[in-house]
Amino acid sequence: MRKLQAPRGTLDVLPKDARRRLELVATAGEVLGRAGYEPMETPVFEDTEVFARGVGESTDIVQKEMFTFEDKAGRSLTLRPEATAGICRAYIENGMHKLAQPVKVWCAGPFFRHEAPQAGRFRQFTQIDAEAIGSDDPSLDAELILLLDEIFERAGTGPRRLRLSSLGTRETRADYIEELKNFLRAREGELSEEVSARIDQNPLRAFDADHPGTQAVMKDAPLLLDRLAADDAEHFAAVRALLDAAGLEHQIDPTLVRGLDYYTRTVFEFESERLGAQAALGGGGRYDGLIEELSGPPTPGVGFAAGIERILLAAGEQEAAPQARVFVAIAKPEAAQDAFGLAQRLRGAGMRVELEQAGRSMKGQLKQADRIGASATVILGDTIEVKDMDSGEQREATDANQVLELVREVAGS
Ligand code: AMP
Repeated sequence: MRKLQAPRGTLDVLPKDARRRLELVATAGEVLGRAGYEPMETPVFEDTEVFARGVGESTDIVQKEMFTFEDKAGRSLTLRPEATAGICRAYIENGMHKLAQPVKVWCAGPFFRHEAPQAGRFRQFTQIDAEAIGSDDPSLDAELILLLDEIFERAGTGPRRLRLSSLGTRETRADYIEELKNFLRAREGELSEEVSARIDQNPLRAFDADHPGTQAVMKDAPLLLDRLAADDAEHFAAVRALLDAAGLEHQIDPTLVRGLDYYTRTVFEFESERLGAQAALGGGGRYDGLIEELSGPPTPGVGFAAGIERILLAAGEQEAAPQARVFVAIAKPEAAQDAFGLAQRLRGAGMRVELEQAGRSMKGQLKQADRIGASATVILGDTIEVKDMDSGEQREATDANQVLELVREVAGS
């Protein structure tokens, strides 16, 4: 029979990594919770239109990367490639504009993009995502950037670079895109074939080109940051002032391109030098037109998304904090039921307890106790013994209460 394998670009998360991931999500929840962000969950699949309208028909994500399928009634559904559009759909559907604004929420979970798999890039990956919906106050942009930086810091990602820009309004951007297209068309002969073939679809990509001729042309290209309307420029200056006051270094990058159409005003991205080609740890921005695009009332919003796999990759291997453990060994078969009961009792008292459950010899059981790093082993046979695994010292207990006492002494918990 054919050997079965996980689908291309997906990842089995084995216990050691799974624990780190849970810890990271818990840290994010704590950091975000202190700033008033509440957990929220939306479905892993949505009506395809949520992303087609939200993320944008012309984006790579919608054109090439979505896992889209039909349900039995012929409705088009899509595995979510990102979180914001679904959360905004839920904000509208659940009348969340009636709550005190801004509504601050966060979530963590799986996302799906049909990309070419490589180091740090998967087809199923996991994001931590936070959103503040219902206010365009620049302090929310700065707050989210600072919270994301704190999550990276607590996760131990090491040094990172923050790039920041503003895209202004959709109108400013549309006018600018026309200006840029005209600029590129006038210099088509000097551009790479790839860039010149995509002037109409995606002129912004020209800023990222490796081609020397294109790079030379782009040195004189008009920049969106220089075309911002006065209130957008003011908003951007306010965000920057707050980041400066908080002491968070950032680089203004007028060519910062994000792969989603809904952004307006602030956009940002954190990168780590420790990651290879896929250097982005996380990013986000403001999306003041998105809720309206999804048929809701005009409502501003801002958010971020960060990849859990990338954060842990940048953080590298880390020593897990040692945890006191207890092993319950069974010296004769008749003691099995008492051993089971004792393990339950010790767990109830808050200890990490493992029990012999594989029919090993006493020697094998003590070896297993060592393997799991137990500081105490309780041996049930004709007597009950508590063995200190460091000193080898063994003491007898007469009942469960005494076991608890002796184990606490030995394990120090
Ligand atoms: P984006 O919405 O594309 O900016 O993605 C936000 C973050 O999610 C990125 O900075 C990455 O950390 C992570 N991410 C995005 N796509 C992938 C992927 N295919 N595999 C792993 N992580 C990803």
